[in-house]
Amino acid sequence: MKHREPQLPENVDALLVTRPENVRYLSGFTSPEDAILLFVPGRTRLFTDARYETQAPAESAVPVEIVNTRSGYGFLSEHLAGLRAGYEADHLPCARLRRIEKDTGVTFAPTSGVVERARTVKTPAELEHVTAAARLADEGFEHLLGLIEPGVREVDLALELEFWLRRHGAEKAAFDFIVASGPRGALPHGVASEKRIQAGELVTIDFGAVVGGYHSDMTRTVAVGAVSGEMRRIFQTVLDALEAALAAAAPGVLASELDAVARRVIEKAGYGRYFVHSLGHGVGLEIHEAPFLNSRSEERLEPGMVITLEPGIYLPDRGGVRIEELALVTDSGLELLSHSPRGWLEV
Ligand code: ZN
Ligand code: ZN
Repeated sequence: MKHREPQLPENVDALLVTRPENVRYLSGFTSPEDAILLFVPGRTRLFTDARYETQAPAESAVPVEIVNTRSGYGFLSEHLAGLRAGYEADHLPCARLRRIEKDTGVTFAPTSGVVERARTVKTPAELEHVTAAARLADEGFEHLLGLIEPGVREVDLALELEFWLRRHGAEKAAFDFIVASGPRGALPHGVASEKRIQAGELVTIDFGAVVGGYHSDMTRTVAVGAVSGEMRRIFQTVLDALEAALAAAAPGVLASELDAVARRVIEKAGYGRYFVHSLGHGVGLEIHEAPFLNSRSEERLEPGMVITLEPGIYLPDRGGVRIEELALVTDSGLELLSHSPRGWLEV
């Protein structure tokens, strides 16, 4: 077992793990797209094909079996004997499940979020990777600040940031970076375009690095020269919402309540209908993972969780602001993992 042991639901004793991030989590194998894992407490096994004959045993914390997956899933049968097996219903496609059931003669019970729940609380080794990815992002942002000026294209800033991060140790970009300037700032998911940045605009930059398979995630909104009163007002409102959520976050707090704390600040300022997404999400082997901080979430914060808090206001055709912090839930509150200044910044 690589990290925390998942808790199986009462109706199963074995879980067929197909979601790549979960396979990696439980084994440490870095090519999990080409593997499946059978989680049985004390008897977990990783199955992959002959291309990984050397790599898989070197990386995996659990025994590896090299199998010919082209000839079906019959190899699972002997490992499933006498066990009530479950599968990852949120991930495994129906057609593949039917094939596995046909090949093994076993009927699998649906499960949901079993490994994802274990993944919400990070081990010290996982935290080291997330922290390193966040530190790199802070340094990359400092480098980028010197390059933001009127006339520069969004896409060139995104590219420069990605190059910088990779040159300094990131395995890859955490996702397609968002660089959204001026009216494009109203797009919550405004991936960098060929638009040139102009004086008097706000620029929202949302990005992260991947280190050891783990992601970081941070957003900053920067003013290019003097910016209009309304944009300043929504910036301050978003910052106030973020500060309120940061102050309220602590172990035991409901994720939905934290979302409500930030939302109330934005609603009070009259911009409630322009905060169109949830407050935040967990970060780890995936950029978006449990716990999800939204109004329907039933999860409570626990020490060891790594979460983002990212309120935003998006005024259609005019512009927008989002500020996102990455933080670790501690025994007493939050410890920020992103350290770039989050206040009003004019370049
Ligand atoms: Zn982000
Ligand atoms: Zn995020």
